[in-house]
Amino acid sequence: MFNNLIWVEVNKENLINNIKELKKNIPKHTLFSAVVKSNAYGHGMNEVAKISVENGAHRLAVNSIDEAVELRQNNITVPILVMGYISLNDLHFAVQNDIDIIVYNIDTLKKLSELSEEYNKPVNIHLKLETGTNRQGISKNNLISFIDIINNSQYLFIAGLSTHFANIEDTTNHSYAKHQLNLYNEMTKLVKNNYKKKNNILCHTACSAAIILFKETYFDLVRAGISLYGLWPSKETYLSCILLHKQPVDLKPVLTWKTKVVQIKNVPAGQYVSYGCTFKTLRDSKLAVLPVGYYDGYFRSLSNKSYVIINDRRAYICGRICMNMIIVDITDIPGVQLENEVILIGKSKSENVSSEYLADLAGTINYEIVTNINRKIKRVIV
Ligand SMILES: *Cc1c(COP(=O)(O)O)cnc(C)c1O
Repeated sequence: MFNNLIWVEVNKENLINNIKELKKNIPKHTLFSAVVKSNAYGHGMNEVAKISVENGAHRLAVNSIDEAVELRQNNITVPILVMGYISLNDLHFAVQNDIDIIVYNIDTLKKLSELSEEYNKPVNIHLKLETGTNRQGISKNNLISFIDIINNSQYLFIAGLSTHFANIEDTTNHSYAKHQLNLYNEMTKLVKNNYKKKNNILCHTACSAAIILFKETYFDLVRAGISLYGLWPSKETYLSCILLHKQPVDLKPVLTWKTKVVQIKNVPAGQYVSYGCTFKTLRDSKLAVLPVGYYDGYFRSLSNKSYVIINDRRAYICGRICMNMIIVDITDIPGVQLENEVILIGKSKSENVSSEYLADLAGTINYEIVTNINRKIKRVIV
């Protein structure tokens, strides 16, 4: 059973708009992968995956093997790429379910070689090339040892060569990204010169900011995450668009987070509200209690800072955000009633609470605001 007092609305039309907008930039031969890791950035993985595949995404990318297997169980048949680490004991799930895997360590490769023979099945490997993010990645000196194992293994194939930019959305100076791209180009040459099998290899590097800004990063496949959901990777990405004289893509936020008023009360002037007595009413006030808190993913650091929208008006948060409750000031909002709808993130006729706004106040990024919305909360396609 779902808690019916909190829900996330996923706007299908906006999601489709974003795929179309992003694909406009991309040549026909370049594949489009929808990144649906982390519960589709909080939007609901299975729903988003289905809509994306039906509306132009050729492939999907996730972080973990459990996400990939869940997609297969939901009858998703397009290629799925797991980008994070898969424990050696779970690698057979990838082989059984025809999951593409990003590989960057030898133990994984050796285990996959064994498993592919055991199951008599080809395994599509995407080597992650180390170009300067120093997170996952095979350094140039070690590349040949990986290629040798793959060349000598009947069922292992290099299906892709990827890298990930360290500093593309955090700046308007893209020299580091360009350095990474140069190194990537050198390394892909090295692989192609030493790989002995004849299959097609997909080169891919582009996350959202790269898709928005740099055609040179597209190659054969792009991996769109945050932009798919209608959110900009950062202010700097938007600014870079302007500086590069590019028409900014028309992204439309997909997610609206809603709840209901569960209590209304009059509190006289001079009273404290919520834990820690961090808020005191300065006037006779009308307050509303909302059944959402940091457990649900509403950052506690927004205490006394952000607002929600009720009846198209702002209601500011009074005092600490609790585990399951928030108190807001509705003194100036006429006609609020029990179970009135409340917007936590999203737009009303004349107001807007964006995930960027909440991120700024909470000292984080929009990615964390949306991925933090508890996966137990119901996602509704509208
Ligand atoms: C999450 C992720 C992406 C998507 O990044 P966005 O900035 O959300 O578009 C692409 N590639 C890799 C390797 C990732 O981990």
